[in-house]
Amino acid sequence: MLRLVNVRKSYVEPNGNVLPVIDIESFALAAAEQMVLVGRSGSGKSTLLHVIGGITRPDSGEVIVDGQDVAHLSEPQRDRLRAQKIGYVFQTFNLLPAFSALENVLLGMAFTGQRADPARATALLDRVGLSKRLSHKPSMLSVGEQQRVAVARSLANRPKLLLADEPTANVDAGNQQNLIDLIRQSCHDEEVALMLVTHATEIAAQFDRVERLEEINRVGAAV
Ligand code: ADP
Ligand code: MG
Repeated sequence: MLRLVNVRKSYVEPNGNVLPVIDIESFALAAAEQMVLVGRSGSGKSTLLHVIGGITRPDSGEVIVDGQDVAHLSEPQRDRLRAQKIGYVFQTFNLLPAFSALENVLLGMAFTGQRADPARATALLDRVGLSKRLSHKPSMLSVGEQQRVAVARSLANRPKLLLADEPTANVDAGNQQNLIDLIRQSCHDEEVALMLVTHATEIAAQFDRVERLEEINRVGAAV
């Protein structure tokens, strides 16, 4: 479902220095497989998710998502592929403040070329326990509720792959496990592959597959 081949990504720093971040020879994730990605801060986890999600283009290599090479698509094509096949949950939620919970989920459906599906959006918000908060704007929701809206939004388009970048980092300790359970159960039920970045060892320990970025990334070995 996801396959990386010789993927490299570096940044050019303001002073012109090239900073290599990612150099992965080979990596694969099966359909509906769930895994955790761990690694020290600054090791390139978010960069890797951005490359897989088509937010950032790698310098070279192949990033095959559901048979399509994201790395060789134009930006509009990558945006479209992401909208159709990839769900994203960010550490900082990235909800649109002017819109209600329901509208945020519906807006997540707006980029696929298909009609938004209010019944599906409502069902997803129900699944994350927010059926009584449909018209609440993000500022009226607790932080945990906001992240649950983000989870509902990420699944709106029936993606093949969910990328979750430290989704519990801003959620209070009492709600972190619930959120992880919700993400895992939703991915399981909808047959979505999951790649989750977390610093919480107790959460990582719940997954059958845990990859340490430094071990699959040749840049990490050199630094
Ligand atoms: P992680 O998510 O593992 O903490 P990141 O992928 O965010 O790591 O960052 C990896 C490295 O790349 C860090 O050293 C960071 O400073 C650097 N970096 C990230 N984004 C940029 C950028 N746009 N320009 C230059 N350097 C960047
Ligand atoms: Mg990060």
